[in-house]
Formats: sequence, C-alpha cells, structure tokens
Amino acid sequence: MSGHRATTAVYHCPFCAEEDLWPVEEPRGAWECRACARVFTVELVTVDTTAIPGRLAEEDARRGGQA
Ligand SMILES: [Zn+2]
Repeated sequence: MSGHRATTAVYHCPFCAEEDLWPVEEPRGAWECRACARVFTVELVTVDTTAIPGRLAEEDARRGGQA
C-alpha cells in the first residue's frame, strides 16, 4: 500500500464505458472491466496547468491587476 505511484480511481471503462470495474492485483493499479473483460491501467502523464480556464483567469487578473 506504500507505492510511490498514485493510483488513479477509474469510474468508467475507457473501452465500453461500463462502470463494472474491479481492481486487480497484477499488474498493480490495473482495473478489470467485467462488462468487456478488458484489463487496463490508467496513467497520469502530466497536468497541463495552462489548459485550466480558472487558472488562466486567475493569472490574467494577477498580471493585469489594473483596478
Ligand atoms: Zn469495458
């Protein structure tokens, strides 16, 4: 339980969109979809903060700051 990789909670199967997902022991962090029998992992690559609209507005306000 002390793995340094954060596991991602998955709510829908990326292949068939069903919600019948169960964690499997191997490979670690993988999920089994009992609707389509696929076993898969979801990996977070990065968080692109430039793509968050709220963040953009926030930085805009900080930069502009003309009141
Ligand atoms: Zn599925």
